[in-house]
Amino acid sequence: MHFHLKRALLQASAAVQRTARGGDRRQMGSAYYGVAAGGVAEKAKLRGVVFDMDGTLTVPVIDFGAMYREVLGENTYIAMRSRNPNGSIDILHHIETLSPPAQKKAYEVIASFERQALERLEIMPGAAELCGFLDSRKLRRGLITRNVKQSVDIFHVRFGMEFNPALSREFRPYKPDPAPLLHICAKWDVQPTEVMMIGDSLHDDVVCGKRAGAFTCLLDESGRYGAHESLSEGLRPDFKVSSLVEVLSLLEAHFELTPHSQIDREKISGAGR
Ligand SMILES: [Mg+2]
Repeated sequence: MHFHLKRALLQASAAVQRTARGGDRRQMGSAYYGVAAGGVAEKAKLRGVVFDMDGTLTVPVIDFGAMYREVLGENTYIAMRSRNPNGSIDILHHIETLSPPAQKKAYEVIASFERQALERLEIMPGAAELCGFLDSRKLRRGLITRNVKQSVDIFHVRFGMEFNPALSREFRPYKPDPAPLLHICAKWDVQPTEVMMIGDSLHDDVVCGKRAGAFTCLLDESGRYGAHESLSEGLRPDFKVSSLVEVLSLLEAHFELTPHSQIDREKISGAGR
């Protein structure tokens, strides 16, 4: 696990913002830490966690390379890969540029790959423990995926715990647009700065979280993204873990976990003033 907030806290260049509660907040990328009168850093409040599904809550079983080849055709696939060798191919946006019959065919290919993946669906190690921990601390759990609602429904049944809201491909615009994450924050009535987005895609999940102003955690099981520090400033998540198991201690160490019953009490007492 890597953590760069502490180092950033020491940087004199940190911008100071005035919060609604009257305290100073130091801005470090998308993350905020309150600074108490004595200059001691307070832990940031965390009220909810939003997860990506494929490759984060479930073990990746879709062969994306094979799927892209079949959807795009070999020549287009190679051309798109060579234009963006390190990045991911944005297949959904590409499909929207095709003629209606070609779109239909492309979605059928994707649906067939997704059906095969569902048959082999496996829950990510540590996912159940992490969600159980969030429930025990009364933190909210949400989900954003570029997969279809039917897959989310099947995942919910297999996982045995529901995420609410759970936004699928039917919600537009998709990640990395921050809209789905901002939608969940609005539903929960919390600030994006009080939420963490966890996912295995730097370009979808981390970018979505950063654009929304949330904390971000990249799950990089294989180490394919390299060292945390090597990631460019615009893409670097607040945290990088190689297993969901690491997230429990990370949350306890760095955040004040705020149960939603406490939020409700604050609201009730605030409304009476
Ligand atoms: Mg994913």
